[in-house]
Amino acid sequence: MSAVTPDPRVETELRAIGVELAASFPSASRQPLRALDARAMELASSDRELRAALFRFVDVVPACRSLDDLARHLIGFLEEVPDAPPPIPVALKMSGTRPGRAALGAAAAGGVRHLAHRFIVGETPATALGTLRKLWDGGVASSVDLLGEATVTESEADRYAARCLEAIEQLAAATRRWPERAMLEADGAGPLPRANVCVKVSALTPLLRPDAPERGQRDAGRRLRPLLRAAHASGAHLHIDMESLDSREAVLELVLHLLDEDEFRSGPSAGLVLQAYLRDSPDQLEQIIAWARTTPRVPPLTVRLVKGAYWDHELVQARQHGWEVPVFQDKPECDRNFEALTRELLAARPALRVAIASHNLRSVSHAIACNRVAGGEDRDLELQVLRGLGDELQHALATRGYRVRTYCPVGDLVAGMAYLVRRLLENTSNESFLSEQARGVPVEQLLAAP
Ligand SMILES: Cc1cc2nc3c(=O)[nH]c(=O)nc-3n(C[C@H](O)[C@H](O)[C@H](O)COP(=O)(O)OP(=O)(O)OC[C@H]3O[C@@H](n4cnc5c(N)ncnc54)[C@H](O)[C@@H]3O)c2cc1C
Repeated sequence: MSAVTPDPRVETELRAIGVELAASFPSASRQPLRALDARAMELASSDRELRAALFRFVDVVPACRSLDDLARHLIGFLEEVPDAPPPIPVALKMSGTRPGRAALGAAAAGGVRHLAHRFIVGETPATALGTLRKLWDGGVASSVDLLGEATVTESEADRYAARCLEAIEQLAAATRRWPERAMLEADGAGPLPRANVCVKVSALTPLLRPDAPERGQRDAGRRLRPLLRAAHASGAHLHIDMESLDSREAVLELVLHLLDEDEFRSGPSAGLVLQAYLRDSPDQLEQIIAWARTTPRVPPLTVRLVKGAYWDHELVQARQHGWEVPVFQDKPECDRNFEALTRELLAARPALRVAIASHNLRSVSHAIACNRVAGGEDRDLELQVLRGLGDELQHALATRGYRVRTYCPVGDLVAGMAYLVRRLLENTSNESFLSEQARGVPVEQLLAAP
């Protein structure tokens, strides 16, 4: 993806928007816990070996039976770190005795739980309702993601589908009683559902295989139809997340096929995801736009644009098999593609609704500026962030009156581990926008064209 000459009107507008948003971030002094987390993240990002050890540790926590067990694992992982930063040798010294090991285990378990709670809003949709309502009262819409990935049995897939159904019904019932929030409830295309649930196709079937997609599609389809029906009946939005590349074609085909069935042409409100880190994402967008133009629906299909959460996985997988790497390997290239796709998506309205999901101040400000320069209203663009990673940006966007939705994972700590590890990996990677921001890179530099 070669650099295109940036549109000077967009650049001027986006700088003003970005600077204003940056000024609206909550100050660190009002967020002592965040500052604490940030230090833990900094420690984790400062040392590659330590990072790897922590990731391995977080992965085994749910399988640990006792504090002693937990501490043994932690010590085992930390001992593999050659030149650990100063706090680590102190912890290792503590582990020499049984009480020391128990104390270290408790601290480690507490730390993981604390970190998980930062990203996960509740064990069930019912227990998450308090947080979702608080967000709404603060001018922020939400999207509930039921944690659970890559099902291996039919009964697991049935259980996941049942949890999704329950979530749709519970959220639709509870959100009906919420007070009106004009900015969050309608855009130029019409009303926006208050209840919004995300699902993963890999959790709806154990049969999804890239070499034989039809069986998986059929099996996921029979669990997805009742969810679409329930969303339609209760006025909720159903969003299908995108996962790794090996399931992308199957998921896209399945969703477009289902939404084209007579029963679902006039609802529910539904959406899918486009991953800008994939080199062929422009072709995929072309396919989605062509579908949307020839399959008009009310409400229009929502496309959530993301960069993609499986970057390391795609890279490793391709190298292992000797395949051509499907993702951009240069971060600015990925960012430029994200901006190009943003422009295409905005231009495809009203056939589509657009949601820009990013914590990158430049990517978000660019989308807002392009929308304005094209004559759009701010309410015609949805901005999405992840709970725990995008809290500051969410606050700034809501304060400045933009339409923001926070993606809120719900589930237990065990189910949340894969999610948590991915978020940690993203947050502590050197090239991540959030790392740059945490390192104190000046706003002007953060807003520069990629
Ligand atoms: C509301 C919401 C919903 C999401 N849903 C999904 C989903 O359904 N599916 C999904 O896959 N992801 C999803 N994501 C995650 C998303 O894909 C990104 O991983 C995450 O938002 C980080 O991107 P950023 O723009 O916030 O930050 P940035 O720091 O600007 O970008 C980081 C991203 O850039 C890419 N990247 C990193 N290093 C390189 C490199 N060397 N070369 C090229 N590219 C690189 C990776 O995609 C990485 O995640 C979602 C994110 C949000 C906010």
